Amino acid sequence: MAPTQLPHYHIRWSGKALDWERFPTREEAEASAKQLLRLGETYAIEEYDGACPRCQEAMKSKMPPRTSHEASA
Ligand SMILES: [Zn+2]
Repeated sequence: MAPTQLPHYHIRWSGKALDWERFPTREEAEASAKQLLRLGETYAIEEYDGACPRCQEAMKSKMPPRTSHEASA
């Protein structure tokens, strides 16, 4: 079974696209979202099961598009 076929969670930021990072549990997604949350921003945890367009897109392009939440090292 491919990893993308497992149920998992993504963070959807207010006014932004779905975060590419995937979490195995809602709790982990919530914890990460709270850490990354900016002032005035909201988020929603979305559950994905089976074929997830966000993960398929990330796998196709091998280099997942960076979100603005990631610091450019
Ligand atoms: Zn996914």
